[in-house]
Amino acid sequence: MANIKTEFLTFDACYVRGKKDLYVAAKKLEYDPSKELLVRITRGGICGSDIHYYQHGGVGDFILKHPMVLGHEVIGETVPNDGSNPVKVAVNPGRQCNNCEYCLEGKSNQCLDMRFFGSAMRNPHVDGGFAQYVAVRADQCIPYNPAIDEDIMAFAEPLAVAIHAVNQAGTVLGKKVLVTGSGPIGALVIAACKAAGAAEIVATDLVERNRQLAIVMGATRALDPIKADLTPLRSGKGYFDVSFEASGAIPAIQGNIDLTRAGGVMVQVGMNPGMVDLPLTRMLAKEIRFVGAFRFINEFTTSVQWLEKGLVDPRPLLTSVFHFRDVVKAIELAGDKSQALKIQLSFEE
Ligand SMILES: [Zn+2]
Ligand SMILES: [Zn+2]
Repeated sequence: MANIKTEFLTFDACYVRGKKDLYVAAKKLEYDPSKELLVRITRGGICGSDIHYYQHGGVGDFILKHPMVLGHEVIGETVPNDGSNPVKVAVNPGRQCNNCEYCLEGKSNQCLDMRFFGSAMRNPHVDGGFAQYVAVRADQCIPYNPAIDEDIMAFAEPLAVAIHAVNQAGTVLGKKVLVTGSGPIGALVIAACKAAGAAEIVATDLVERNRQLAIVMGATRALDPIKADLTPLRSGKGYFDVSFEASGAIPAIQGNIDLTRAGGVMVQVGMNPGMVDLPLTRMLAKEIRFVGAFRFINEFTTSVQWLEKGLVDPRPLLTSVFHFRDVVKAIELAGDKSQALKIQLSFEE
């Protein structure tokens, strides 16, 4: 019989089984220590998609068919099996195949065989990182300076999404930038644009508190898209070289066509707006490039470096930290947009 290398470990994890059905239960992890590293999770951020699985039992077409461990914004420390010291790592939640045409082209976010934490895209679903331990490939572990606060480093994944969105625009250096929607992702896009040298960043959000956050995160101005007079920003074929749409609101997507300059770029950031009527003629006549931004590629490593260097300080986004055994309370609060921005879970006992 072949040498069986698999090891088992049992610990607690946060499972979602369906709509409003979230609980902590034991998970038996089977992993191969010759191929995978064991990481003890310390902190995890609750993301919009986690909230969606909890509130609706699915995200878009990805419906829960069996219990799945939630979470993809996690950090932790390695559990070495050779007696060496643990290393603090940010965990890249995406395990691409490294073999398909997209991986070979360097577009691993489009991998045909992606296994992404806490996603029901595949069946069986891929368990996420809201667990006391995960087993991951070494290339998913990005070591970080242990002096950096966990509050900060747990933003590595959402900041990677924001940096990827900026990269999808080409460059924002010296550009006039619009960011519609200043929730957690929009606010990080603002911070990433500032770090990447944008000349001017105008944010919009319906909520006053989010507009204040936009300013704290680096926006030059923050406007209420209904009450503010945007006419001057529409005149002369539009004001902004680049617009990032991070609200998922249909009027924002449509409105950005008039606010973006001819020849400019519109980036739709990771939201799920569904079907949208777009004034295509106007968009094409202005030669606007409309691009998507889905997850991230090597921006995950960039994000860890930016957080280490303090190029982005995400702490204004952090509302509170809950113990993972209080995950239901935590996700209820996270889902209340009037109360919460980012909620994190601590996995320390
Ligand atoms: Zn996320
Ligand atoms: Zn692949």
